[in-house]
Amino acid sequence: MHFRLTEEQRAFQDSVRRFAANNLAASAVARAHDEGFPWDIAKLMAANGLFAIMLPEEDGGQGGSLMDAVLAAEAVAEVCPRSADVLQAGNFGAFRTLAEYATPEQKERWFAPLLAGEAICAVGMTEPEAGSALTDLRSTCTADGNGWRLNGGKVFTSNSDDASIFLIYCRFGPGTEGIGSVILERGMDGFSMGEVRRYLNGETWRPLHFDNVFVPPGNVLLKEGGFRRQIAGFNVERVGNSARSRAVGECAFRLAKDHAETRVQFGRKLMEFQGLQWKFAEMRIALDAAQLLLYRAASNAGSGLPDAQEVAIAKHACNQAGWLAVNEAMQVMGGTGYSNDVLLEYCLRKSRGWMIAGGSLEMMKNRIAEGIFGRSFPQRPPRAP
Ligand SMILES: Cc1cc2nc3c(=O)[nH]c(=O)nc-3n(C[C@H](O)[C@H](O)[C@H](O)COP(=O)(O)OP(=O)(O)OC[C@H]3O[C@@H](n4cnc5c(N)ncnc54)[C@H](O)[C@@H]3O)c2cc1C
Repeated sequence: MHFRLTEEQRAFQDSVRRFAANNLAASAVARAHDEGFPWDIAKLMAANGLFAIMLPEEDGGQGGSLMDAVLAAEAVAEVCPRSADVLQAGNFGAFRTLAEYATPEQKERWFAPLLAGEAICAVGMTEPEAGSALTDLRSTCTADGNGWRLNGGKVFTSNSDDASIFLIYCRFGPGTEGIGSVILERGMDGFSMGEVRRYLNGETWRPLHFDNVFVPPGNVLLKEGGFRRQIAGFNVERVGNSARSRAVGECAFRLAKDHAETRVQFGRKLMEFQGLQWKFAEMRIALDAAQLLLYRAASNAGSGLPDAQEVAIAKHACNQAGWLAVNEAMQVMGGTGYSNDVLLEYCLRKSRGWMIAGGSLEMMKNRIAEGIFGRSFPQRPPRAP
């Protein structure tokens, strides 16, 4: 067993780090506060081979592995967390699930602008009554002629305002087995959006409303019975979430370390105080441990889909380590770190969301416990006899 990257991986990591240093670092704070999706960065990344890293070349990808995509996400998130969201959309997000299950016709129809960084795909899973209990979702497709009619709605769809296509989880029949997914295009008849809402991290979302939207057969990704495959694809999204979450902690660590090496109080540099040294030691332990778990999940996946249990463990560890690091880094930096002209306060706002998004910490622990005991633990109340 080796705990070092291969020469090829190291070279790729170095090249992405150079790309990030030359193109992203200087405007990272401004970008963190900019409204809307950074399309300039999306096009730049696509032109530099940073989109579709793990897709096969015949699909317009780079033919790399999940581990390559993780290395890229880390290298970007460590210097510009907002740009890492772009890398997420072009590699780990709904786009990756589409790539896994889309027909050749669907790829032909939608992939070119996604690969070029000119369009993104959002994912609508969550509904007002179906958050962690996702299989309670009520958006329903009912047969109509040669297609379906979609009714219902979604909340918390990140990038709603910027996406041109939407991967929507919906119900073709009862129960978990009845769940599948369809692809909606912005502007389809009956597909509308509510007022813009904002997360703590500054990103926006809009409630999605489906009022008898006609879904032709070519817009169905997975019919009933597709839920487990859908979530298997979503595990890649969770790896991207984990990579960014931990790397944003790394960004915070670096900012705090620079600060501790220069800031003087009581006539000594902050790094001279043992109370702060131990914070750095704790951050380092957590960040390194989480990275090993992340690399295990990613490298075991090759260019395929990762193992659900390894992903759940990695996501929990990365979310926790990232949060610990940004929170402690803020304590080290005092008022300077809490101020919005420094990247750290954005790192903190960003980090907090990942403990909820993409499967909360608690849901990851539920999943891990199921893996440990080799059985499912229904979370719903027992049915009346
Ligand atoms: C930044 C951000 C981006 C997001 N982007 C998207 C997106 O693009 N698309 C999308 O569809 N959704 C998105 N979401 C929504 C996200 O998936 C949900 O917020 C998440 O699944 C939790 O659902 P909920 O908010 O309804 O919380 P709830 O499910 O109501 O949970 C509330 C709390 O109870 C805990 N809890 C619930 N059930 C259990 C249980 N059985 N055991 C232990 N604890 C439990 C949860 O862990 C949580 O702490 C995003 C959320 C955030 C914060």
